[in-house]
Amino acid sequence: MWSPTVENGTQGTIFIDGKWRAATSGATFESLNPATSELLGPVSDGGPADVADAIAAAAAAADAWAGKTGYQRAAVLTEAHRLMLQRADDLAALMTAEQGKPLRAARNEISYAADFLLWFAEEAKRVYGTTIPSARADQRFVTMRQPVGMVAAITPWNYPVSMITRKAGPALAAGCTVILKPAPQTPLCAVAMFQLLADAGLPPGVANLVTTSDAEPVGRALLASEAVRKLTFTGSTKVGKRLAADAAGTVKRVSLELGGHAPFLVFNDADPAHAAKGAALVKFLNTGQACISPNRIFVQREIYPDFLRVLAERVAALRAGNGAEPGVAIGPLIDERALAKMQRHVTDAVERGARLLTGGQRLTGDGCSGGAFFAPTVLSDVTPEMLIYREETFGPVAAVTAFDDEAQVIEMANDTAYGLASYLYTRDLSRAVRVAEALRFAIVGINDINPTSAAAPFGGMKESGIGREGGQEGIAEYLETKLIGLSV
Ligand code: ADP
Repeated sequence: MWSPTVENGTQGTIFIDGKWRAATSGATFESLNPATSELLGPVSDGGPADVADAIAAAAAAADAWAGKTGYQRAAVLTEAHRLMLQRADDLAALMTAEQGKPLRAARNEISYAADFLLWFAEEAKRVYGTTIPSARADQRFVTMRQPVGMVAAITPWNYPVSMITRKAGPALAAGCTVILKPAPQTPLCAVAMFQLLADAGLPPGVANLVTTSDAEPVGRALLASEAVRKLTFTGSTKVGKRLAADAAGTVKRVSLELGGHAPFLVFNDADPAHAAKGAALVKFLNTGQACISPNRIFVQREIYPDFLRVLAERVAALRAGNGAEPGVAIGPLIDERALAKMQRHVTDAVERGARLLTGGQRLTGDGCSGGAFFAPTVLSDVTPEMLIYREETFGPVAAVTAFDDEAQVIEMANDTAYGLASYLYTRDLSRAVRVAEALRFAIVGINDINPTSAAAPFGGMKESGIGREGGQEGIAEYLETKLIGLSV
């Protein structure tokens, strides 16, 4: 296994001004394998003093980085992309060990993550301005776009590498400097990525990493700083609201990618088996620990039994275990707290009348004794009174509800504070367009369970967030528009 602390001959996982170092306090915490509870290595436990050093380093590097051409910045990102592909197997193995997802899923994430580096390397060359006609004959207007400045990036554990490139890629392409705080569950994935950026030739101070077990003081130090001009965050809605409030103190720009509660609509005119296979694939991706995971599956009455039969069969066949083992489709949950939530959701649903078609309990033994494994589960006859209908599950429990007509299911789907991803299965083109337009979700997959790409805007409406990552929009989040008015 790739071990940054040994390879670099350093004793720390904090990366500031191009150098690895320990926390100012000397404190460390452990990263562990969620499938086996094996310790993966000590991690530097950074705090506000380390943030202050990172801010100073980023400030010192800012002008030179912003002053490079888009072509020069693109060259570094293109090299980082090449290194990611070259190191894909090692990065995937590290991700499986630290986050728990099966190796094949980890490889997919590395490839998706690398795409952002290349996409934004290309976008760096296309930061266009405009000329605007003035009402005054003696005046000209020109707009140009400039980097927003220093960026604080806070990332989650569920997609520990792609969430870094999806933020750092566009920020660096735009000419910003970055200070990143990764999730305490997956710091070593971040360490590997920062070593990679350095190896790609990123100048010292441009991107800095502060690992910590205690997010709050680090977040506060980043957000209190006037030098930090932008917050980009992926995580829970609860934490996102709080960070946005803190960011308001210095009027920072904010991008938030928060929770989801994706509806998955299957109409009578769809093939129930095809839709059920799609639902099984996307629901159990990453053990259900994804913000675009279908959380409420609505199936029209006529095909409800067929859909449930295929879904339950497929889900019952999913093998849970250590993601490093071949044939494993479902890894562990990230921790015991997540497992307790699954148990709470399932117990509550069954008590209120849901039917348990498969799964429903903790798995132990047979490769599952070392972590928080929950059996892939299908619940049918789920109703709005149940917790699982209201709360983001973030785990391997599929909740299915029957519906009668289109207007009713649109209302049910939109009856949530979230607005990230949604899915619908139909063979009726008019219905597909009508329903896609009516859904208050920023992403709609029509007969498509993977409506994501580095080239496409990802983000949420309502309490699922602000801003978009990826696509043309992705770099705009890191640019200011400057207007120049000129009298001639
Ligand atoms: P989850 O519950 O999925 O872990 P969180 O929103 O708690 O989602 O975590 C997402 C990221 O936000 C992680 O990097 C975490 O450490 C960080 N985080 C959590 N609480 C705070 C906070 N008060 N200030 C700054 N960052 C935080």
